[in-house]
Amino acid sequence: MTQTIGYAALQQNAPLTPFSFERRELRATDVQIDILYCGVCHSDIHQSRNEWGGSVFPMVPGHEIVGKVSNIGEAVTTFKIGDKVGVGCLVDSCRTCPDCEDHLEQFCNKASFTYNSPEKVTGVNNYGGYSKQIVVNHEFVLRISDKLNLAETAPLLCAGITTYSPLKHWKIGKGDKVGIVGLGGLGHMGLKFAHAFGAHVVLFTTSPAKAEDAKRLGADEVVISSHAEDMQAQLGSFDFILNTVAAPHNLDDYTLLLKRDGILCLVGVPDHPHASPTVSHLIFKRRSIVGSLIGGLKETQEMLDFCAEHGISSDIELIPIQEINQAYQRILKSDVKYRFVIDLASLEL
Ligand code: NAP
Ligand code: ZN
Ligand code: ZN
Repeated sequence: MTQTIGYAALQQNAPLTPFSFERRELRATDVQIDILYCGVCHSDIHQSRNEWGGSVFPMVPGHEIVGKVSNIGEAVTTFKIGDKVGVGCLVDSCRTCPDCEDHLEQFCNKASFTYNSPEKVTGVNNYGGYSKQIVVNHEFVLRISDKLNLAETAPLLCAGITTYSPLKHWKIGKGDKVGIVGLGGLGHMGLKFAHAFGAHVVLFTTSPAKAEDAKRLGADEVVISSHAEDMQAQLGSFDFILNTVAAPHNLDDYTLLLKRDGILCLVGVPDHPHASPTVSHLIFKRRSIVGSLIGGLKETQEMLDFCAEHGISSDIELIPIQEINQAYQRILKSDVKYRFVIDLASLEL
């Protein structure tokens, strides 16, 4: 066991505070990582406030982890000490079910998530990346190219793959009109990827002040979602809309913007359900509402390599861990540009 330190919510809604704990003894197939940076996802807030139910405390959040390998188990041949690596939302899965065989470990019924989830072998609750160090099975560790800035890469491990994966799955590319709803951590990566894939991209936002940034990040058009006339002008015109909003809202506003056979893909997971969408809007144009969950390990590596090749990373605000509670408050006010990343050098053992 190695003693380490992190920041934890000791109970539901408690502010995060310093927390000492132990990481497991290295198993033969494990990689030990000194964490350098960890992104702050809205899911960290949902879970530390138990907004989805079933949260286990104390909770060390964080699943956008980058760092350097500090030790390897005796059976590990794919990583060496000093390698730059990442860990996202997944740290284990069963490896044998149809989802695992299809490289879609996120859907495995036995998937072990990076925090607030039992470890596969011992059943002990996992602690996440708001900490100095982590031990992870080598098959769940991602490789990071030297071309990428490490702090700006951290958010790719969740916000990046969560937006890359559905755009790829539904084959978004040149000639498609794509909407991105919400300009936060996920939304700003959605803009970058949809733009890189060649789509015509429209950002829907509740924050007029973000319009200029949205264009810089890849939007061809920006629509303020409270402006009814501007929303009307977009009716029936979209192939695909990726909705990243973390709060319940009226989905009809977006299903009506889809063409025949258009798809509204939900990735935001609000604490209370959305009101039921109007079914006739779906039936009459054969529109679909779908969901998507992060991405598997193979696709996450593909996304990281795509980002290295195309010079894509996250726009971040780097913070010392002591500012994490203020960062949560700003995220809740939609005031994030466009992902907070914790610099773990600020945390002393
Ligand atoms: P975020 O940084 O807080 O961004 C969410 C954005 O949604 C806000 O910046 C805001 O953008 C907009 N918004 C917020 N409240 C709104 C409201 N009441 N009505 C309309 N728009 C609103 O959050 P995030 O980290 O991107 O995460 C977004 C959601 O995705 C969370 O629910 C998170 O748990 C979930 N998530 C899902 C997955 C998955 O695998 N499916 C993975 C990661 C995260 P504007 O200011 O532009 O309106
Ligand atoms: Zn996340
Ligand atoms: Zn499985």
